[in-house]
Amino acid sequence: MRTTLFLMCAAAFAPGWAQAAAPGAISGAVPGVASVVGARAVSGVVSGGASGAAAPVRIAPSSPQPAAQPAGPDTHVILLGTGNPNPDPQRMGPAVAIVSGDRVYLVDCGPGVVLRAAQAGLKMEQLTRVFVTHLHSDHTVGYPDLIFTPAVTGRLEPFEAYGPPGLRAMTAHVLKAWRQDMDIRLHGLEPSVPRAYVVKAHDVKPGEIYRDGAMRVVAFAVNHGTWKHAYGYRFEAPDKAIVISGDTTYSEGLIRAAKGCDILIHEVYSEKGLTRRTADWQRYHAAFHTSGPGVGRVGAQVRPRKLVLYHQLLMGETPDEILQEVRGRFDGETIYGTDLEVVR
Ligand SMILES: [Zn+2]
Ligand SMILES: [Zn+2]
Repeated sequence: MRTTLFLMCAAAFAPGWAQAAAPGAISGAVPGVASVVGARAVSGVVSGGASGAAAPVRIAPSSPQPAAQPAGPDTHVILLGTGNPNPDPQRMGPAVAIVSGDRVYLVDCGPGVVLRAAQAGLKMEQLTRVFVTHLHSDHTVGYPDLIFTPAVTGRLEPFEAYGPPGLRAMTAHVLKAWRQDMDIRLHGLEPSVPRAYVVKAHDVKPGEIYRDGAMRVVAFAVNHGTWKHAYGYRFEAPDKAIVISGDTTYSEGLIRAAKGCDILIHEVYSEKGLTRRTADWQRYHAAFHTSGPGVGRVGAQVRPRKLVLYHQLLMGETPDEILQEVRGRFDGETIYGTDLEVVR
């Protein structure tokens, strides 16, 4: 049987999910979803020894570490990847998890995103949504991993992706590239959850793009060199507001959008380090990214409770030196983020 990829309209959102500004969504849906999901639910109940039909179903072990289940939403940040395009086993590509209650809101999917999520104790069934800042490869090469690995090992729901124009097209290409894999998994002998392979991708415009019972998400445009569309995101939970810059040079729009937030996660490069680079690289970084003093300037205007540096480019400097660059302009708490660090 062939897997059929087709376009679905945004009205196909699950009940209670906000309608995004997107004109449509992409789906890798297949026929026979209900019957196969139902069959898996029965086997899940039997193997788990539960008596109710609503018992959680695990198709395959997803993570050895259970996620914490605090009483309140306890909204917090887990830095999954703080690195840059240079491969570094200590620093995966840009990816951040914002966790509120048992819901996970991923921002970007750099290389290593799924492995780091597992290391952080997140369950594969929690990886159901991502907010992409822009389509640079260092922020998106983990996208196929995020689509397929949780679908194979534990996700039970369709995957939702939000990002700038071009994300729907990228999603369609990814689904097409792995079409043979989907055909084999969904129509061969392997037990599978077809719903988990459905991807609803939304090309969104700045403004409120998402809302559920626990979180409101606002996209805002940032200045990332010659990118036509690059976003930062503001996440508003009942107990906390968290803003993430994505990739940006100094951006007034970010300062406006970030006002009053608790945690500001911002990219940075070393101004001193950049002086060692060639003139063409200096032009590039000045137009696309933000220097240490530049981030300090942003922090001084936003006044977040915590300023977290990520996606750092040291260019031969040390973390302490880049922190000094920022602290020269901002006297609030500033953290040099590392992979798997939790910020509250
Ligand atoms: Zn970028
Ligand atoms: Zn980047």
